[in-house]
Amino acid sequence: MPLKTPIEYVDSLRALRIRAYINGELVEKVVDHPSVAPHINTVAKTYELAHVPEYEDTMTVLSHLTGERIHRYTHIFQSTDDLVKKIQMLRLLGQTTGTCFQRCVGLDAINAIYAVTYEIDEANATAYHERFKEYLGYIQREDLMVVGAMTDPKGHRAQKPSQQADPDQFVRVVERRPDGVVIRGAKVHNTGGINSHEILVLPGTGLVEGEEDYAIACAVPADADGVVFIFGRQSNDSRKLEDGCDIGNTRFGVVGGEAMIIFDDVFVPTERVFLDGEIGHCAQLVNYFATWHRANYGGCKGGNADVLIGATAKMTRILGTERNAIVKDKLIEMIHRNETTYSSAIGASALGFQLPCGSFMVDPISSNTVKLNITRNIYEIGRLSHDLSGGFLATMPDSKSFENPEIAHWVKKYHTANPDYDVKERVRVGRYIENMTSVTTMVEAMHGAGSPQAQRIAMLGQAKIEDKIKLADAVIYGTDDVPGLPLPQVND
Ligand code: SF4
Repeated sequence: MPLKTPIEYVDSLRALRIRAYINGELVEKVVDHPSVAPHINTVAKTYELAHVPEYEDTMTVLSHLTGERIHRYTHIFQSTDDLVKKIQMLRLLGQTTGTCFQRCVGLDAINAIYAVTYEIDEANATAYHERFKEYLGYIQREDLMVVGAMTDPKGHRAQKPSQQADPDQFVRVVERRPDGVVIRGAKVHNTGGINSHEILVLPGTGLVEGEEDYAIACAVPADADGVVFIFGRQSNDSRKLEDGCDIGNTRFGVVGGEAMIIFDDVFVPTERVFLDGEIGHCAQLVNYFATWHRANYGGCKGGNADVLIGATAKMTRILGTERNAIVKDKLIEMIHRNETTYSSAIGASALGFQLPCGSFMVDPISSNTVKLNITRNIYEIGRLSHDLSGGFLATMPDSKSFENPEIAHWVKKYHTANPDYDVKERVRVGRYIENMTSVTTMVEAMHGAGSPQAQRIAMLGQAKIEDKIKLADAVIYGTDDVPGLPLPQVND
């Protein structure tokens, strides 16, 4: 059965010759680096839960290609039920890890390429779709983690790819060979990039005639020649290398361990090229990806917020404020905001529809609404957590203060609130709240799956304003009510 165990996931990563730089240094094996370990542990949970009988239906599914049981993270959505189960899986994983578990970008990229290759073939009589299905079969059989590499560095934002002083600001084809293409450029913000097996490169949007070399979608092994990872620095990364109560959540990462991926003239064989030069299909590819991914946030952030609400509720007990009516009301507000986005994501999934290729897409305006609400609700949930946790969050003692006998007794004495709780527990819970409400986490909620303005623009297009005007006109001026009912006269 193609379901890796967590150990097999780590071992399979170890077997790769990944070229990665962390803190400016070339790393021998990323799996052994302490900065990456929390992110690998987080992904390992996605593999582990797929083996738990209780979660079989949530975490696994039958492949529409082979009929075999596969991980839901390698599946093509076959129904609205699949879309709903995906959101439920994300909430479960969010509750289990309290952070980003990274595999969703690859999942949505797989689905986007599956759908668009079908449409390109229908339009141009090409053979991308069957080629992609071959590749997908490999991903499903091996239960691989795929990173979706989407965002180009973009250089000067007022200039299109072909107008850039440096043409490598967008990933492009620099050479065509009989057996494949050579690509150059970089992708940024790649969630889980450094601990993935495969990279799915997606093009950007807005490409015009003459920019065909920038229209490239392809798959690259993480350890292909010319691929280089540069690990990003997050707000508490070095704390993960420490010990004691300062770490907060010891086992899992803060957001997704994002990395920049360099493609330094990487050869991609033809069987791994899924779009090459079809500029007219790039926008739909990105649109499909973004629409699926935006609904996700109601699931994963829902699970993350469950943990944050739990940590905040615990903090109120540590402080002794949990019976206060105002405190309870603020917890209710956190719950209300969290359940609002989760139920929107479920709704977006339940209202899904079938695409030409046979797979299922979420309701676009609901999906964009989920993500736009996340950019507000996660901040508000974090704000309320800060409110209830108090100024202690900003002034907590460090774990070493508990070890120095000259001051440890004062640190304990003056930070004790409810004596049922040890001060170190107060710090540990506080550090978790600090981690999950700090800049890195918030910015991820703001800009992941596209910045809020991207959702607003999409929603304006999807809201069908002209239809709404017709609805308003019908209600205000309409005369088609039930015959025989007495109606007030309209005089002007
Ligand atoms: Fe998945 Fe959420 Fe992380 Fe995106 S932010 S990869 S949806 S867990």
